[in-house]
Amino acid sequence: MNVKEALNGLKKFEEQSFALGHAMGLLSYDSSTVAPKQSVKALTVTQGELSRMSYELTTAPETAEMIETLHANAKELDFVTARKAEELYRDLDRIRRIPKDLYVEYQKLCVESDAVWHDAKVNNDYPSFKPLLQRIFDMTKQIALCIEPGKDPYDTQLDNFERGLTAATCEKFFDTLKKGIVPLLGKVTSSPEQVREPLLEGVFPVAVQRDFSAYVMNVMGLDPERSVIGETEHPFTTDFSKYDVRITTHYHEDDLLSSMYSVIHEGGHALYELNIGDELTMSCLGGGVSMGIHESQSRFYENIIGRSREFCGLILPWLREHFPDRLSALTQERLYRAVNASAPSLIRTEADELTYCLHIMVRFELERMMFAGNITAEDLPAEWNRLYKEYLGIDVPDDRRGVLQDSHWSFGGIGYFPSYAIGSAYGAQYLDEMNKSFNVADAVSAGNFSLIADWFRERIWKFGRLYDPTELFNRVCGQFRPEVYIKYLENKFNVIYGLTT
Ligand SMILES: [Zn+2]
Repeated sequence: MNVKEALNGLKKFEEQSFALGHAMGLLSYDSSTVAPKQSVKALTVTQGELSRMSYELTTAPETAEMIETLHANAKELDFVTARKAEELYRDLDRIRRIPKDLYVEYQKLCVESDAVWHDAKVNNDYPSFKPLLQRIFDMTKQIALCIEPGKDPYDTQLDNFERGLTAATCEKFFDTLKKGIVPLLGKVTSSPEQVREPLLEGVFPVAVQRDFSAYVMNVMGLDPERSVIGETEHPFTTDFSKYDVRITTHYHEDDLLSSMYSVIHEGGHALYELNIGDELTMSCLGGGVSMGIHESQSRFYENIIGRSREFCGLILPWLREHFPDRLSALTQERLYRAVNASAPSLIRTEADELTYCLHIMVRFELERMMFAGNITAEDLPAEWNRLYKEYLGIDVPDDRRGVLQDSHWSFGGIGYFPSYAIGSAYGAQYLDEMNKSFNVADAVSAGNFSLIADWFRERIWKFGRLYDPTELFNRVCGQFRPEVYIKYLENKFNVIYGLTT
């Protein structure tokens, strides 16, 4: 095969690969949102067949020849095509090491286990999920060892979500965070400053909350022609291309802020996907580069923007107008303090900025213990509860609010969690850099979100998978410095809680 033939083959491969991914993604989205419960019985078969087709397409001799030809002749290719060849070669090399039957069985296990986890969480029934969870951990580890036999399989997992990340790097990073966060949290929790906001307690009708979601998406600049919102137990974002990105949220009648922050978080993911470069979308370089970079976008919008004083001022008129009986007395300052109330809590997705990374550290430790074989799925609930006591000082009342709360393990997302903490910390450096271009607080006050979007689009979003995540971050912010994040947290919470430094 010559380079010209390989380039034609690449075009066809990208189209077929995109179509299969699109179909599987749509089925998965349908299953999480509107499909009846028993649809999973047929879905497992269909998803199994589609993933078999995807595996066969990726590992077919003509695909391999095409990728190998391009990879060997990378010097002749333009920058984008050379990167495609490099990435496809890496993917091919990894997937070829996994036996086909194992690959397909794993995909089916993930579909089945995700459905069982949903019911187990609703019914607070960990025993029904336990055997599947054990299999997920076992098979994930088995696959990691197929891909990189000489490496710690947990490092292989971390690398799947954030290329280059290792357990040793995570440990060092978490250590820095702990040293900064734990003493600050100690001062915050013993501070007499009252941040509970009684105006935000009570009933907020879901119908009005849905309107609020639409308003928030509009403020953030999400294009309604290319994005849509659905409702699921666990909020998420799924993207098919820059022309179709879907977010979900979960409404609680007695908690206005929960859904609002889910929408802002998922909206941050969506903005990234909606702004991938035109020439990259639907190609093998379309889509965000890694989960660390992805979470750095969502957590930036959720916390650094969404929990800022200026954002509270911006949305206050809407809240007062639509909840006149409840919120007419709410002020910008009261809302700002309420959305930054910090206290150890049970649920990661609803944790405040200060305690959030402690939730991640618990999961990191558990995943490592499971992969090392020090504990089994049988031990997970008790170990979860023990670590919540150790890290956050609280008792976990049931598995629904404990080990069953997150969906990640059910779909094989082992090694994903540290991306949230890394992404959160990246945000503080983005803020410093962004402030060199324009005053971020002023832009948020004025509702000028296009300034923020333009900044991210030109530096991160439009590049898709064109650069490795670390390189991408370094190009924008220089070296990663977790102490910048600690400083950001100290500055913010010292003021809110009236602490002297
Ligand atoms: Zn996220």
